[in-house]
Amino acid sequence: MFRGTVPLGHLGGVRLGAHWSVAVVVGLIAYLLASSILPAAAPGLASGWYWVAGVLTAACFMASLLAHELSHAVTARHHGVPVAGITLWMLGGAAELEGEPPDPRTDFLIAAAGPASSLLIGGVCWAAAAASSGVFPPIVVGSLLWLGLSNIALAVFNLLPGAPLDGGRLVRAAVWKRTGDRRRAVGAAAKAGQVLGTLLVVAGFTEVLLLAQFTGLWLALIGWFLIGAAAAERAHANVREQLADMPVRAIMSPDPVIAPGWLTVEAFLERIAFSARHRTFPVVSFEGAPIGVLSLSDLARLTPEQQLTTRVSDVCRTPPRVAIVPASTPLTDILTHHPLRPGADLLLVTDNATLAGVVSAQDVTRTVELAMLHHRERR
Ligand SMILES: [Zn+2]
Repeated sequence: MFRGTVPLGHLGGVRLGAHWSVAVVVGLIAYLLASSILPAAAPGLASGWYWVAGVLTAACFMASLLAHELSHAVTARHHGVPVAGITLWMLGGAAELEGEPPDPRTDFLIAAAGPASSLLIGGVCWAAAAASSGVFPPIVVGSLLWLGLSNIALAVFNLLPGAPLDGGRLVRAAVWKRTGDRRRAVGAAAKAGQVLGTLLVVAGFTEVLLLAQFTGLWLALIGWFLIGAAAAERAHANVREQLADMPVRAIMSPDPVIAPGWLTVEAFLERIAFSARHRTFPVVSFEGAPIGVLSLSDLARLTPEQQLTTRVSDVCRTPPRVAIVPASTPLTDILTHHPLRPGADLLLVTDNATLAGVVSAQDVTRTVELAMLHHRERR
């Protein structure tokens, strides 16, 4: 989803990742805790202790953020909505759903699960802090209390009613339920997100100007992000809608230059590759059935001798590394399930078991760009 994301492995079948900006945030939180919050809660300790507790507490906060996103993901999967993965980044986390919730109730439950888990974690930490006061050292109690309060704050912030926040999803579910029109609901939640974002930007700059508090910049930054994300969500929903009924046949390039599977690599290079202005080629059998994809970069590992003796069908990439789909497949399926790398991948489209055409990353990008322009004109 984001560039610069470090994979963190899998949990319950869900891919986890963290953007590098998370390290900055952990550092900032640890600094804030070690330099002012914990010394106030438990005065008189060596500064090293504040740093140890600060870093541990910041890490626990990130873990609770992950728990928030996992709650969205687990609820989504429980209701049959596939989840691609979870990414943590500077302004929180994001669970990437691979499909749309089928009905308003599911939409509501997936959105509510995150804030519910944050409230639960916050409540438990707060109760633990209250119960252990006088039993555990004050620095531990102070850390627990901070974790409790920040998780509750996280839940409250996420419940603000505007997309892409969880509160915006709740608005979407409610409007969807009332009107029965999902598209209208997406539009309403996105508009609310743009209004909310604008309010946060104004509030942030007011704080900076009137109170000389530079924390307002953080608020303004979050508001700025919300405005952009809400607008993108609106455009995205519109594009998906336009592409919803489009079959892959509509965007494929018909009659592509093919690489006959029975040719040797040398013959293919001489007769086809040098004159064709392409980097990737669909490979077909003698009967015309698609068998795989050959890209010029795949041939780099062959020596000139091997080029004389190797057949195209022996070096090309075949399923499952290449997708072969019927021409009637909905385009939105392709966007979700078969990401295409520019210059390396081709989607092979069949009609009655023979090759009808190919789809490249460029074909997909062009279609999405045209749909977005169309969206802009109609607004
Ligand atoms: Zn959430």
